[in-house]
Amino acid sequence: MVRVGIGYDLHTLVRGRRLVLGGVEIPHETGLLGHSDADVLTHAICDALLGAVAAGDLGQHFPDTDPQYAGICSLELLAHVGALLSARGAQIQNVDSVVLAQRPKLAPHVPAMRENLAKALGLDPTQVGVKATTNEGVDAIGTETAIAAHAVACVIIGNGATSG
Ligand code: MG
Repeated sequence: MVRVGIGYDLHTLVRGRRLVLGGVEIPHETGLLGHSDADVLTHAICDALLGAVAAGDLGQHFPDTDPQYAGICSLELLAHVGALLSARGAQIQNVDSVVLAQRPKLAPHVPAMRENLAKALGLDPTQVGVKATTNEGVDAIGTETAIAAHAVACVIIGNGATSG
């Protein structure tokens, strides 16, 4: 059975925080605010994967009120999500994503992001798409108040596996 999932996330940009996207720390004057490393791309991908097996969302699995997740590398959360899917008999076919950020320029970092994300999921980088776009100066993203990400995932669930 082929299943798809969708994920979306947004974090605000503030001074004094690191900017981590797809597990890559990108030099920038601001970073994303959040309980974990606030890796908005990895969070969107986690939600797409969880969605593909109707297993809720990242916040349900890793509550931001739980101190054990403070500052955690989101690639670790992604690896947990990958394991959860495996346990449910779901085999990830591919993930695709797009990051919406006015600045900085993300294209030079995309190959490293794809490597990191693929490694956390035990996939080949050819199975993980990462794209980046600006928001043409429009709204909170365009004015550099926030960065957002969308993701989709396709998985195959074998015979006898359930998503419950
Ligand atoms: Mg998030």
